[in-house]
Amino acid sequence: MPEGDAVWQTAQRLHQALAGRVLTRSDFRVPRYATTDLKGRLVTEAVSRGKHLLIRTGDGITVHTHLRMDGSWRVSPARDRVANSHRIRLILANTEWQAVGYQLGVVEVLHTASEHTVVGYLGPDLLGPDWDPVEAERRLRGDPARPVGEALLDQRNLAGIGNVYKAELLFLRGINPWRPVGDVADIDALVGLARRMLDANKERSGMVTTGVARRGEQTWVYGRAGRPCRRCGTLVKSADQGRNPEERITYWCPRCQS
Ligand SMILES: [Zn+2]
Repeated sequence: MPEGDAVWQTAQRLHQALAGRVLTRSDFRVPRYATTDLKGRLVTEAVSRGKHLLIRTGDGITVHTHLRMDGSWRVSPARDRVANSHRIRLILANTEWQAVGYQLGVVEVLHTASEHTVVGYLGPDLLGPDWDPVEAERRLRGDPARPVGEALLDQRNLAGIGNVYKAELLFLRGINPWRPVGDVADIDALVGLARRMLDANKERSGMVTTGVARRGEQTWVYGRAGRPCRRCGTLVKSADQGRNPEERITYWCPRCQS
């Protein structure tokens, strides 16, 4: 599941291919927008907001998409043939490039002035130009009894963390995912580390939290249930946590995290 850094990268790729160019084709393959045509509109920018993608046009239209579980955007030269697929939800193309959105969890067209209706609930964006750690901490502390593992995933508190970074952040800070937020004294350090971790990963493909990019060594605990903790050798545990079925499983070392 793509997290904030991967969505940020996608926004960069879309921006490079689409911004400053006029759309020569739009093909919405979702029923609600089957007749929508953005041909002739100038794309001004593509940006990420947490895990949401916003593609804006000069005349005040925004195409809002979200990758959810399996979504992706692929950019290729406009002359390349794109294999037809039932997984395609949206194609945006200009004379040079085509951007093809596969299995997008959300496809929506709205007025740019109304973007707040789809992303206004989000907390400070870890990779946004308006990142505000103090506000993120304030929101996290808003529900002190809530397990910290759940609170970190709630995009209303801060935007961009998914299940991998959640597990890794808590390991690195020695915090058990079930500890109530109110009992985490150094939440500013946790928030600061979240920002650094996403920022360090935003320019590369794949997520690395150990500093080792070799396959199988990229994470401390995520995806490693039943295997020895890289620090202490205790077997890493996993369990369901939280309400979001897409992001339930959490991983932790019962010895390193309390
Ligand atoms: Zn350990």
